[in-house]
Amino acid sequence: METLGETTPGPIPADPPPAPAPGRPEASEPPPDAPEPTPLPGPRSGQAGPPSFYGLFPAELEDLLEARGHERFRARQILDWVYHKRIREPALMANLSRALKDELSTIVSFDLPETAEIRVSPGNDAVKFVLRLIDGSRIESVAMRSRRGVTLCVSSQAGCGMGCVFCATGQMGLVRNLRAEEIVGQIERMLDATGWQDPGFHLVFMGMGEPLANYAQVLRAIRILHDPAGLSIGARRITVSTVGLVPQIEKLAREGLPLGLAISLHASTDEKRGQIVPLNRRYSLDSILNAARDYAETTGRRVTLEYTLLSGVNDTREDAYGLAAWARRLPSKINLIPYNPVPGLPWKRPDEESVNRFVEWLAPRAPSVTVRWSQGGEIGAACGQLGARPS
Ligand code: SF4
Repeated sequence: METLGETTPGPIPADPPPAPAPGRPEASEPPPDAPEPTPLPGPRSGQAGPPSFYGLFPAELEDLLEARGHERFRARQILDWVYHKRIREPALMANLSRALKDELSTIVSFDLPETAEIRVSPGNDAVKFVLRLIDGSRIESVAMRSRRGVTLCVSSQAGCGMGCVFCATGQMGLVRNLRAEEIVGQIERMLDATGWQDPGFHLVFMGMGEPLANYAQVLRAIRILHDPAGLSIGARRITVSTVGLVPQIEKLAREGLPLGLAISLHASTDEKRGQIVPLNRRYSLDSILNAARDYAETTGRRVTLEYTLLSGVNDTREDAYGLAAWARRLPSKINLIPYNPVPGLPWKRPDEESVNRFVEWLAPRAPSVTVRWSQGGEIGAACGQLGARPS
């Protein structure tokens, strides 16, 4: 497992952070380096029972089958049943041998995360899943559909250690990193439950957690999902969102996968960003945007700069001009997200007039600007709301 500790980040500034504006909660200390994943009880830890099917590459499944006396080509048949025909019951996999049908559930586990709760938006365009993992940890995932197709938003950690002050997940703290099979399992659970048909669906790592703080398991899951024998999700249909872990951004650029990269910026000065995104006291805007530019140049992908608009905090003319100046430094597009309120937190969404004014300041000076009015706000499924108590 790779962790933040593999590379040595710069020292955390000794000076106390700037005082937040009156009435706002103060950002906590920058998060510590990501911990090793918590060992899991049961089959997925390797202590007992078979490994999860969803955490295996095709070649690993072939090895497992061969070790139990079955032909290697059976792996492709099983992958086809599960990922393409959506059948998980070995007895129904018609072209397998009788012996393999009988034995398969002792070779791999097809169990998915359990569904603890499902909430459907009034317009039936967003579904929020609360999923229970094998150790009882809960995560949330969201399926959305629009004219542009289906987008699945997945979690990479239970909770999050980054502590962004406006984010519901950030208030939970980090519970643990997810394993690759738990990430793939979320997607399978959502595809099964919604029944939405879109072979070109998009996948965004914008649910609970900081994906690059769980680098090895997230990359393993992406490669499993990308494999032509599995769900075959093209790298260009996958977006990883990060709050700015510079060494991991640099590493991701060299994985040979042109994934979409989104940087959660939320402020255009280090002083202001340090108040709402504690990690900024470890990696400055300058270092993050340099890494992002390197990513764009290496992969040929424009980087998305995500900017959550918080009323009275980061929505002034100076903020817009500062954001435009950062965006001009690299091939990028800006995605403005009017804040989605979280019960118990004091932050407010700017009204539509303020959002439009911010766009007017920004758009003539920046390469590309879009406003994302998040789906799923009514069911606590919008950006920044995952992990929130029901309103
Ligand atoms: S915004 Fe993202 S990185 Fe920040 S606390 Fe929330 S989930 Fe973690």
